[in-house]
Amino acid sequence: MGKAERMTNISPQEFVQFLKEQRITRFFFVHDKKNDRLICSHTQLQPMADFIGTDRRDFMQHEGLFFQVCEPHDTLQGAFVHRTLRGQASGGVRFWHYDTVEDYLRDGLRLSKAMTQKIALAGMWWGGGKGVIAKNPQIDTNDPAVRAKIYEDYGSFLTSLRGCYVVAEDVGTNVTDMASIYSKSRFTTCIPLSLGGSGNPSVLTARGVICGMEAGIEFIGGGTLEGKTVAVQGMGNVGGPLIRFLFDKKVKKVIASDIDPICIDRVKGQLPDKDLETHIVERGDNSILGVECDILSPCATGAILNPDTIPGMKAKIICGGANNQLEEDERDGRLLQDQGIVYVPDFLTNRMGIVNCANEQYGYVNNDPFIERHLTTDWEQSIHQTTLKVLRTAQETGETPAGIAVRIADELSMELHPIFGHRGRQIIESLVADRWHESRP
Ligand code: NAD
Repeated sequence: MGKAERMTNISPQEFVQFLKEQRITRFFFVHDKKNDRLICSHTQLQPMADFIGTDRRDFMQHEGLFFQVCEPHDTLQGAFVHRTLRGQASGGVRFWHYDTVEDYLRDGLRLSKAMTQKIALAGMWWGGGKGVIAKNPQIDTNDPAVRAKIYEDYGSFLTSLRGCYVVAEDVGTNVTDMASIYSKSRFTTCIPLSLGGSGNPSVLTARGVICGMEAGIEFIGGGTLEGKTVAVQGMGNVGGPLIRFLFDKKVKKVIASDIDPICIDRVKGQLPDKDLETHIVERGDNSILGVECDILSPCATGAILNPDTIPGMKAKIICGGANNQLEEDERDGRLLQDQGIVYVPDFLTNRMGIVNCANEQYGYVNNDPFIERHLTTDWEQSIHQTTLKVLRTAQETGETPAGIAVRIADELSMELHPIFGHRGRQIIESLVADRWHESRP
């Protein structure tokens, strides 16, 4: 086994032990644009930097990757800064279990690039980034004191990064955790309403999904949502309000599933007189994807659009809130296209989560125009208009909607922030010059 494999094939906990033995508490990999190489804070980690920097699947010239070990809970914490041309990197921090360091790194690389694309396509002046904290299976992460320490330490880490990455909430992290981060860093969004934050964005996300559906129906010349049948997988924070909005739009029927009977009862209780057919399913049961309907809306987990599920689908349009719905972008996008199913890319329709929180430090106004314009039909970068543009271009070129959306997003992500230019990159250069890796108190 080579040196790089010895570092990436092991678990995050084994890697933390290695770092402790080497007395490394913070380290970074920064992209040297001139030589297209990742430079590293510590020579003993250079094989790992080379492993990432030569990876053609997930490494996309990320500007900087920063890491620290949270003591006393031996937790690996990272900030993946993908691209900051449009502004500081923004994206949620994920708290998740990883079997290997490679899985951990790939998740951060992939998710941070996806944030660049989502944010650029939304026309926002932010860059893309992601935080990833690897769960240490030896500690009780449900213990509030343990969690507070992990997230406070993450806050100190963010502060040390001087704003090249601004954090938001993501899978495994909740608003209490965000408040812990906020106690140590002002580079934080998605903090609770009581602390001046924007709170839960899910209702707005559901409204965004409705906009994508309406654009999809317009694209196929199918009129409006009135009288349609919609199937919804997942009746949680996004799926629940989505079903209410669908009935407001006078759909004929909603068929919905969830693994949690409490979620089902809650939504049914709010809509006693509506034609809402519900199914309690087992985890991993995707039978709802094959029901007869006009629109299918995945609002639960990712990777559910794949060669196992697509052949049985009867919907004309797929448009939902779940992240990463296509198991493999090109392959599954093509399968849907060949079957005549219109796919509205997920990162286009579920943008409202980040739209809601990204600008919260600018304060609030009623019906905030900077948020509401995403939900209109006349703003050029609204969900409606962008969906139509993507679907029409896909039709003209024969490419998949996801491919077109990524292409447009990548172009937009190269635009420079109109005031601050490429300041994120300058911050990273300052961190390197000031030997950030030795800054751990
Ligand atoms: P949530 O956990 O509140 O809801 C998801 C629901 O799906 C849960 O009720 C869960 O029981 C159910 N579920 C899980 N597996 C299922 C299955 N096989 N069949 C049916 N139901 C199943 O999460 P959420 O906030 O509603 O987010 C849903 C999706 O949207 C996630 O992929 C999330 O990453 C994405 N998303 C959410 C937001 C937001 O603002 N909340 C923003 C962007 C993207």
